[in-house]
Amino acid sequence: MVAVCTVVIQAVRVLEDSRANWLAVDAEAHDRFLLLAGLQGSLGYGGMIHNFKNFVLRGEAANRQSLRRDLRRAEDLVARYRTLELSPDEAFALKRISTVIAEYREKFAVAEGMVDHGARAEDIDQVVRIDDEPALDGLRILYDGWHARADPAHDLMDRSMQRGVDLVRYGFAVIPVILLAAVLVLWLVNRLTREIALSDREEQRARFNEAKFRGLIEGSLQGVMILKDDRIVFANDALARMFGYDTVAEVLRADIYRDFMPDDEVGNAMAVRDNLMAGNSHSHDYRAVRKRRDGSRIWVDVTVHAVDWEDERAYQVLYIDISDQVRFEHELMAEKERVEQHAAAMAELNENLHYARMEAEEKQRELHALSITDPLTGAYNRRHFLDCGGTEIRRRRRFGEDIAVLMLDVDHFKKINDVHGHAVGDLALLRLTEEAHKLLREVDVCGRLGGEEFAVLLPQTDEAAAQVVAERLRRTLAKTEVKLEDRALTFTVSIGVAMLEPDDTTVEPALNRADKALYAAKAGGRNRVVVYRDALLAASGA
Ligand code: GH3
Ligand code: MG
Ligand code: MG
Repeated sequence: MVAVCTVVIQAVRVLEDSRANWLAVDAEAHDRFLLLAGLQGSLGYGGMIHNFKNFVLRGEAANRQSLRRDLRRAEDLVARYRTLELSPDEAFALKRISTVIAEYREKFAVAEGMVDHGARAEDIDQVVRIDDEPALDGLRILYDGWHARADPAHDLMDRSMQRGVDLVRYGFAVIPVILLAAVLVLWLVNRLTREIALSDREEQRARFNEAKFRGLIEGSLQGVMILKDDRIVFANDALARMFGYDTVAEVLRADIYRDFMPDDEVGNAMAVRDNLMAGNSHSHDYRAVRKRRDGSRIWVDVTVHAVDWEDERAYQVLYIDISDQVRFEHELMAEKERVEQHAAAMAELNENLHYARMEAEEKQRELHALSITDPLTGAYNRRHFLDCGGTEIRRRRRFGEDIAVLMLDVDHFKKINDVHGHAVGDLALLRLTEEAHKLLREVDVCGRLGGEEFAVLLPQTDEAAAQVVAERLRRTLAKTEVKLEDRALTFTVSIGVAMLEPDDTTVEPALNRADKALYAAKAGGRNRVVVYRDALLAASGA
């Protein structure tokens, strides 16, 4: 097979050389031949000699033009031929040709003059006769020179092509022989192998298995080491890489406990080893921290098996680097903790917010209550009383009920203040409010309009009922005691009663009317109730 290849390669080389030769020779010969053919064309038939003859014989302008062109072309081609590599014969031939061309140029000038003066053709021909033979001779020499150059090159090429073809033929002739020999050799090898296999099959299988085992372990992505008597007797590349060693040989020189384990892991590893060696268990699986060569730590899943190593008891350790996984687990735990803390904080915040909102609502309620009540007595203040009046008037528009108003003023209150002091006066006002609230309905509205002056709004109450309420209130208050340190104080009130008229849009006109009735009550001797309409009647009667 090798021989066939060698022959074919040689043949290819020879053919490539031939091609290169051919290209070189062909290019040169081709250029030279083109020049030569051009020169013959511009000199010979249809060229310079021919056109000169025609011009001399006929004096035609076309021949004159053609002759000029041929002369220029012939001179140009001779000049270009001179730039090529020339033999002495070729140089001589070119000289002869250019001499003839020069003679033509010279005689052409003479012939032109004679033609222009109308000389006869025979006379001109006599004067300008030129011997063309040296030029034609020169052309022949150039052709011979061209052949002398091209032929050997063609022969050489022919020979080398033939050699290439021969080599290829030889190659093909040799192939069957070589193939036959190869088949023979293969058959022999096969028989030999079979015989060996038959005679020593068990050993072969054992070796194969060991090789397979080693191949598997050495190519494994898991780190694998085998320990015998606490010595590392085998390690694979993956293990070396995992623990930062450049080569397995360096791993084999290292100490398993000192170089691969943090101090606090040694005890556990030894316990696992003792367990395995004692035959208590066949394998162990656990997660551990291991030390790399540069001192950094990695997390690994360790699987330890008891194995036979060279017919002795040993144990094999498989490592899977789970550092990324453990890191991820730790991060996840930390994240979970963060989220839980966050959630707890959020819950606390929520609770605080809830309380704050409740407090705010309470505060708002208190503020609202403060804004609508009188701080001393807790009765509604004047503004809120009027607002309530507005609300009742709007209700009345829908339901068309009566609304009565009472105006109440403590009799001789100044005296109470003067005799018992302002604080006792305050106490009396507080008691008055308490008793009024006890007596009045839920829908009734009691307001302190100022000083010791109160007003009561009685919805759904006609004049007679209002009078009854006012009377009851007056009597109750007259019996109400204000407890002092040593005794009890009583006071009386005067009350004016008025009804809201259909045209009233606010409660104030009714209040004015009730105030007038109150005035009448005061005038009438105090501690009494006066209804506005009665007061009016009395006034008109008076
Ligand atoms: P009359 O029977 O005519 O109503 O006599 P009076 O003394 O009650 O007269 P008047 O209504 O004019 O006087 C009210 C007095 O009430 C005047 C003021 O000193 C007193 N007063 C007003 N507001 C308060 C208060 O909040 N507390 C106390 N203790 N006294 C007040
Ligand atoms: Mg008053
Ligand atoms: Mg008064």
